[in-house]
Amino acid sequence: MSQNLQNVLELQNALTSLREAEQRLHGIPDWMRELHEEHTARRTEIEKLEETAAEAARQRRTAEAAVQDSQEKLKKYQQQINKVSTQREYGALLQEIDTVKGTISASEGTAFTALDQQEKADKELEALREGFRETEERYAAEMTRWEAEKPGIARQVEELKARIAEIKKRLSRQVVSQFERILDRYPGGATAPVRPIERPGQKQKEWHCSACNYRVRPQVVVEIRNGDSLVQCDSCKRILFFPAEEETA
Ligand SMILES: [Zn+2]
Repeated sequence: MSQNLQNVLELQNALTSLREAEQRLHGIPDWMRELHEEHTARRTEIEKLEETAAEAARQRRTAEAAVQDSQEKLKKYQQQINKVSTQREYGALLQEIDTVKGTISASEGTAFTALDQQEKADKELEALREGFRETEERYAAEMTRWEAEKPGIARQVEELKARIAEIKKRLSRQVVSQFERILDRYPGGATAPVRPIERPGQKQKEWHCSACNYRVRPQVVVEIRNGDSLVQCDSCKRILFFPAEEETA
């Protein structure tokens, strides 16, 4: 294998490790994913119920204010009743009193229903919070453990970045830019191992690019093994290499 190819493979490995380390650092580690999902689901449930309780409390306050308002109006109308002088005014006032009494009764009904909803939600909330306590304690403990692991991973990230810079220095600027162009297109990796095509009863071994399955010509196989320049797949343009386990084949 050429020195260039060896360096390129090392670069790809370091970049892959860096990506994994950064994902670990900024994501939720696998060992606490299940608990994290449970925690999130329960918290969402509680938040929803809190919103229901708050909405019921708002409705209740609005209805109670409407009751109070209407009672003020009713008092005013009742005071006016002694002062009216005509039958028509009297009739109109009675109508107003009827309407406002209706409003009071409807608002009282709304307030009562809202109070009922609020109490129910509060009771449910209490039970949910009680059940959540254990999950929350476990979650806090795992978060502490996770926070303790982070500095180590952050150090790993820094080390990998330094290694990547060092490998790039070993490569020509042209090779680095060629590599980065391919990597832009395939963030998952700019290199691809060559693998044999399994075909029963075949006499001569055939090879393909394991990333895109495109056939690799025998002449190209020789070039990858013995040549000095980097060889790209005819189809996907990834840099091809022979994995160690195929070298003896
Ligand atoms: Zn390919």
